[in-house]
Amino acid sequence: MAEADRDREQRRTCQHLCKARCCRYVVVQIRAPRLKADYDEISWFLAHERVSIYYHHRRWHLELRTRCRNLTPNNLCAIYHTRPIVCRGYDADSCEYPARPRHDLQFDTKAEFDAWWKGKLARDRRKRRARTKAAKNRSRR
Ligand code: SF4
Ligand code: SF4
Repeated sequence: MAEADRDREQRRTCQHLCKARCCRYVVVQIRAPRLKADYDEISWFLAHERVSIYYHHRRWHLELRTRCRNLTPNNLCAIYHTRPIVCRGYDADSCEYPARPRHDLQFDTKAEFDAWWKGKLARDRRKRRARTKAAKNRSRR
């Protein structure tokens, strides 16, 4: 398929089938939750509506589901020719239509995150115990 035809086809998919899904949220990377302060911050994020936290490719993200102000009612970009670099860089590889990517971990509520955090604390305790035991065994030799 020629490039112009491919572009036309992609725009038709974006506008009519997908309805501009990637123009309806923002994502920012956040630090990995390790300390109680990180737990508190993520709990606060998740206290808000239309917010999710996810972990993918070894990175943590905050997702805010909020519509871009430049998206027209018929799902077109009102500033297409001057759209930000982050939008220009969105290519077929990052396109999430028809299915959203499955993240390694995803938390839509504080309860989901609490369950994971509890498991993480237990895993951390086990690792600390194993390290202490290994250190003691080494010092006996
Ligand atoms: S997710 Fe893909 S199909 Fe949907 S609007 Fe974005 S680029 Fe277009
Ligand atoms: S600036 Fe345009 S392409 Fe970028 S998110 Fe907004 S509507 Fe979509």
